[in-house]
Amino acid sequence: MTEQTSKLYERGPANTAYAQYFTGNSYLRGLVADPAVNVGVGEVTFEPGCRNNWHIHHDGYQILIVTGGEGWYQEEGQPARKLTLGDVVVTHDGVKHWHGATKDSAFSHIAITAGTPEWLEPVSDQQYAAVEAK
Ligand code: MN
Repeated sequence: MTEQTSKLYERGPANTAYAQYFTGNSYLRGLVADPAVNVGVGEVTFEPGCRNNWHIHHDGYQILIVTGGEGWYQEEGQPARKLTLGDVVVTHDGVKHWHGATKDSAFSHIAITAGTPEWLEPVSDQQYAAVEAK
């Protein structure tokens, strides 16, 4: 699956650094490499069905800006939100959540991330199927 998903950037290389926290294949393009900037800025592309584990951004926040495809964002105990081009998501400090592609579409978002992530359990196939069934 190598089709172009992002409307802004060429897909980055395989996201090997975080692969252990994802189900499925993803790609990461770093967008800011400036030692004076203490937030991470990069674009993640998820293959169809790929999602990251449940996680929490501690002592910070995360802003997602959708750059292509269709995806999901879900906070624990809340319905999943379907995301398309231009959607913006703010995740506050301490909120358990996950994000990723829909089953049938790849998905790209820019992620602006402050603080320290705590990676938790994968989004199970059952949890993912339940979101897709809505
Ligand atoms: Mn996140």
